[in-house]
Amino acid sequence: MTDGIATAHVTKAYPGVDRPAVDDVSLHIADGEFMTFLGPSGSGKTTMLSMIAGFTPLTSGSITVDGQEISRLKPHRRNLGVVFQQYALFPHMSVARNVAFGLTQRKVPKPEIARRVAEVLELVGLSAVRDRLPRQLSGGQQQRVALARAVVYEPRALLMDEPLGALDKKLRDQLQREIARMHRELGMTFLFVTHDQQEALTLSDRIAVFNDGRIEQVGTPEELYERPETLFVAQFVGESNALSLTPGEVTIVRPERLTLHSSADPVPSGHQRASARVTDIVYVGDHTRIWLRYSDGARGCAVLTAGVAHEHRPGDEVIVAWHPEHQAVVPSGDVPELAAV
Ligand code: ADP
Ligand code: MG
Repeated sequence: MTDGIATAHVTKAYPGVDRPAVDDVSLHIADGEFMTFLGPSGSGKTTMLSMIAGFTPLTSGSITVDGQEISRLKPHRRNLGVVFQQYALFPHMSVARNVAFGLTQRKVPKPEIARRVAEVLELVGLSAVRDRLPRQLSGGQQQRVALARAVVYEPRALLMDEPLGALDKKLRDQLQREIARMHRELGMTFLFVTHDQQEALTLSDRIAVFNDGRIEQVGTPEELYERPETLFVAQFVGESNALSLTPGEVTIVRPERLTLHSSADPVPSGHQRASARVTDIVYVGDHTRIWLRYSDGARGCAVLTAGVAHEHRPGDEVIVAWHPEHQAVVPSGDVPELAAV
């Protein structure tokens, strides 16, 4: 028996659509893990989460929780908490009653409901507004009510589909930290969906990168960043310099791994090199970003930490160097147009 959530060859093909929305996805989410599905819009993240939650039937494959097949159970029989981008709270019920609703429906004894609601409101920092109506709350507070409502059942796992997508950046950062804290305090398996790579890197134990209905790579944030296995992952997770040094392959180097050299400033022995022209220099306080155009036309950038002196100017011809242990070599191939670094 495998603990945690496991999917085996899960596929979803919508009738009349030529490409499956989810295509043969096999994945294991360990007990207590914070797993994130990361990918661009339309890559199949919601469909995959929805099949695990039970709202979308599978075309083929299986999903097990702790070794038990769940893919034919109704959503409420799966014991999974779900939070979507839209809050979907009951507008005429107080915060506390919104959170208690499911427990009341399940005929949980009243003192038990009161205890659990108080505990969960404390967890999400809403004890002080427990008697307010949803419209008297900010967007961030409403989403916390949705989180509280999803975990009050003590579900086997919490599934969240872009739960912070509707919030502005400051609130999003704050709720990110709260979700991370909830994960630590509850020790529950969290499955989180986002198209925001920064959010994924910040929150996750592991990330599954989705592209076109398939998983490109599963790994820790550090593995995806330092050792991307595909061009798609290298370009979607973090920024990269993608250099064509060998046929059929692309050499990936992250911006902070590059050093820039003029002819008077020799490259250390054993380093890889490429020639480029500086196109722009942007001082950002804690670092300086030097935009580059390589001799093969590719664009890239180098990031120098604050305090690292440099004398480069836009228009300068430079040698870009890096240690080979800081490069990842991936197969070249077609990738969708992504924001160029
Ligand atoms: P994501 O959440 O990564 O943005 P989705 O899972 O929503 O991606 O969608 C994956 C693909 O499946 C997209 O091409 C989308 O258009 C398609 N799709 C999603 N829902 C349906 C549906 N009900 N009928 C037909 N196609 C759908
Ligand atoms: Mg989606």
